[in-house]
Amino acid sequence: MTKRAGMICGGLDIGGTKIEARLFDGAMQPLDSRRVPTPRGSADAFFAAVADQVGWLRAAAGADLPVGIAMTGMVEPGTGIARTANLPISGQPMAARLTQAVGRPLPVMNDSMALAYSEANGGAAEGAAAAVGLILGTGVAAGFCVDGAPAPRFGGLPIEIGHSGMPARALARHGLGLWGCGCGRAGCIEAYVAGPGVARIAEHLGLGPEPAPRLAARAAQGEAAAEQALAVWADLAAEALEVLQMTIDPDVVVLGGGLSQMPGVAERLAAALPARLMAGTPLPTLRLARFGDASGVRGAALLGRRAAAGANV
Ligand SMILES: [Zn+2]
Repeated sequence: MTKRAGMICGGLDIGGTKIEARLFDGAMQPLDSRRVPTPRGSADAFFAAVADQVGWLRAAAGADLPVGIAMTGMVEPGTGIARTANLPISGQPMAARLTQAVGRPLPVMNDSMALAYSEANGGAAEGAAAAVGLILGTGVAAGFCVDGAPAPRFGGLPIEIGHSGMPARALARHGLGLWGCGCGRAGCIEAYVAGPGVARIAEHLGLGPEPAPRLAARAAQGEAAAEQALAVWADLAAEALEVLQMTIDPDVVVLGGGLSQMPGVAERLAAALPARLMAGTPLPTLRLARFGDASGVRGAALLGRRAAAGANV
């Protein structure tokens, strides 16, 4: 029996637009999945949808099925209060509401942490001592595992690298101003490096507000200005990797999220990073998430299994 063999388990990945439920066998092979829209109107509707998805998993695999949840936002470890900008449950007592909805509390993890946890257990960061999972999508955030286990967090935050400031030296290098961020501040890394930031960089360089896939297609066709825009993006993203390396010192960084699906993105970032690091800083290995979009829900299921085995999660 390998260390990954275990019990059948299920996960929920809750984002701003959909709640995905996925069932896995004991070897973490996916068996079935179902997506429903995320209710945006009220906490009651939200927890009803969660209960429906958990009920679907239990109908397939039994009432005792271990289930874990990955979601955008966080649950404060001390109070159990949910904090999230994209779900209608901010301020709700998560364990109490889940118990009310599905009969028992379920372990909950931030979705960036779930990416790192999934990839550090059977994925692209298997065996890494310090594994970072970096989501480059509509937002930018990271998770962190030590020897395959989620790193303890005081306030429940993931690695909020997206809302750290973009270094002034990087903005000066590219002649960029302080761009506003969804968090209400300006100059955050996310404002430049997330999907909307790519389009804004393209616009800044006179290409129009091209979304990342179209920009990548234009670069692939040999358009020098599109290639230049992606190089600027990679240079700014490398500043985020530099902050991660200087603070967390991971041996592996796994890339997830929509932008990670641009062709050659790991190679592009690996090429940009050395020039941004302080001399003598070790380079992490950059890899794409092995489980792609499903890594978060896989991490949630692993968390459910870990909790069922008696771990304190
Ligand atoms: Zn911000």
